[in-house]
Amino acid sequence: MGPRCPHCRERILFLKTQWGLGSTFACKACDTRLIVPRSQSAGITLSMFTAFWIFRNHFPVEWGGQLGLFLVFCIIGLPTVWALTSAKLAPETTKEKPPEI
Ligand SMILES: [Zn+2]
Repeated sequence: MGPRCPHCRERILFLKTQWGLGSTFACKACDTRLIVPRSQSAGITLSMFTAFWIFRNHFPVEWGGQLGLFLVFCIIGLPTVWALTSAKLAPETTKEKPPEI
């Protein structure tokens, strides 16, 4: 469950996957440069929001109505986002020199 370093399988902190999306960070275990693709997280957030929008009028008022639904989404949604997030190896910033012939 959750994002792991593709190089050493070390767990990545949740904050690292949500903070500064699209920017690279170093794995704390093996120092490999990693990146969480911005598009991936945006897609998950968008589908969460869509689900919230669909369910908001069908949530029992006794459970707190829309506020209750929002809390449920936070409790269920955040771990889900974390579980669905995956980190990739960051592309090399410096291009390798083409082999000389
Ligand atoms: Zn690592």
